[in-house]
Amino acid sequence: MRPFTYTKAATAADAVGAMAAAGPGARFLAGGTTLYDLIKLNVETPSAIIDINSLAELDGFDTSGSNELVFGALARMSDVAADERLMRDYPALLESLWMAASPQLRNMASLGGNLLQRTRCGYFRGGEPFACNKRKPGSGCAAREGINRGHALLGGSESCIAVYPGDWAIALSAFDAKVDVLGPTGERTIALEDLYREPGTTPQIETALDSTELILRIRVPATPLGRASTYHKIRDRESFAFALASAAVALQMDADMVRDVRIAVGGVATTPRRARRAEETLVGQPLTARTARAAGEAALHGAMPSAANRFRIELGVRTVADALMIARQRACRR
Ligand SMILES: Cc1cc2nc3c(=O)[nH]c(=O)nc-3n(C[C@H](O)[C@H](O)[C@H](O)COP(=O)(O)OP(=O)(O)OC[C@H]3O[C@@H](n4cnc5c(N)ncnc54)[C@H](O)[C@@H]3O)c2cc1C
Repeated sequence: MRPFTYTKAATAADAVGAMAAAGPGARFLAGGTTLYDLIKLNVETPSAIIDINSLAELDGFDTSGSNELVFGALARMSDVAADERLMRDYPALLESLWMAASPQLRNMASLGGNLLQRTRCGYFRGGEPFACNKRKPGSGCAAREGINRGHALLGGSESCIAVYPGDWAIALSAFDAKVDVLGPTGERTIALEDLYREPGTTPQIETALDSTELILRIRVPATPLGRASTYHKIRDRESFAFALASAAVALQMDADMVRDVRIAVGGVATTPRRARRAEETLVGQPLTARTARAAGEAALHGAMPSAANRFRIELGVRTVADALMIARQRACRR
């Protein structure tokens, strides 16, 4: 048995106060689909759990705004994935949610918890005796010489090549989303792109959040690019699997020419990754199979494969190219 304390917070300020009082071993609890999983594996061993499920201020979402879409951190993936405005105007956001996990998990899982899910690296989740710098700093990285078919091609380091596994953050990254967080000294806003940290020599530090900070909401600037957008996810089976490669693309065309484009890639990197270099290759150009492929190559530029995952470079290139063609079809229909 590993004893821990349990506190049900009534307000966001209470939750942050309880977290600060409990110290670094404490964890917020939302849907529990990541946290309980890792507790059962002995990877997370919290000394205190602060349950945030009663915080009405974090619940709900509003996609009707003309300036921005607002998603409470406790909004459930399944509720947001059924939203009609998203279906019409931001299909990439919606698809990134309904292609994730399973219906049962999406009913429980919150958007805030989704952003902070941990890697699926088998050496991280496997516990002792596997070396994992993320789980046990200084122990090494068993994945580098081990089973690394699903590991990162981009953003890895000597210390860690674990992939960021989520889908929602990839789509958010393409839409310049921001995250509002509350800490003991007040509220601050972090661009989604700045929320995640590459592993470097400290892979155990995954985000820019202080351990006491609570995600309140996610905000997405409204944009006409949303309408011709897609989240394209390639995996070992059609459902209930994490991405081997994914791409979120949003597009605005002027006849056959690309006026504006957003591209982010997932499943291949240690963090959600906006592919600005790929975007630059396309703006002002016609969108053809050739230019789409060139954008895919730019998105995967600098990929550093391990022994078993070289095939995912080409897979990543094609995933970006295919996503662009899907978005182009949607642009043509508008
Ligand atoms: C079998 C399986 C398959 C899955 N497949 C996919 C998939 O294909 N794609 C995908 O994207 N995801 C997938 N997931 C991950 C799933 O989407 C996440 O587990 C879920 O979204 C986490 O949300 P939660 O509310 O359950 O978080 P919790 O488990 O409650 O919390 C997760 C982490 O976030 C912290 N946290 C939660 N809320 C906040 C907050 N508001 N502020 C600060 N910290 C917070 C917790 O302390 C914890 O560390 C899968 C999960 C499982 C178990």
